[in-house]
Amino acid sequence: MNCFNHPDKPAIGFCKSCCRGLCADCAATVPNGLACRNTCEDRVNFINQIIDNNQKVISAANVQVRSSGMFIFLLGIAFCLFGFLPLLISGNTGTLFMGILGLIFAAYGAFRLLRKSQYYPTTK
Ligand SMILES: [Zn+2]
Ligand SMILES: [Zn+2]
Repeated sequence: MNCFNHPDKPAIGFCKSCCRGLCADCAATVPNGLACRNTCEDRVNFINQIIDNNQKVISAANVQVRSSGMFIFLLGIAFCLFGFLPLLISGNTGTLFMGILGLIFAAYGAFRLLRKSQYYPTTK
C-alpha cells in the first residue's frame, strides 16, 4: 500500500476520516491515530471531540438515573412512615393506602438505584 498523494512512497497508515493511505509527509498525528495533514485533521479532531462529549453526557445520564432513584426511594420511605405509623400506633387504617404507595415508591427507587448503567458505554 502506497500513499494516496505520493504513489511512489509507502503508506505508514490510514487517515481516520477518509481511510486513504498516508506517507510520513502527508500524515498528521491525532490522539487516536492519523489524519491527512491539513485536509482531514480538523475533521478527525472534531469527531474525537464529539465522541468525548458523548461519553461525558452518557456518564451524566447514568448518574441522573441513580440520583433520581435515590430521591424516589427516600420519598417512598417517608410515605411508608406516614402511612404505617398511625396503623402501628393507634390501629388507624386511614393512611394505609399511603403506606402501600410508599412501598411501591421505595421498591421502584431501589430498582433504579441498583440497576446497572443503562446508557452504554460509560467511562465510570
Ligand atoms: Zn483523510
Ligand atoms: Zn504522501
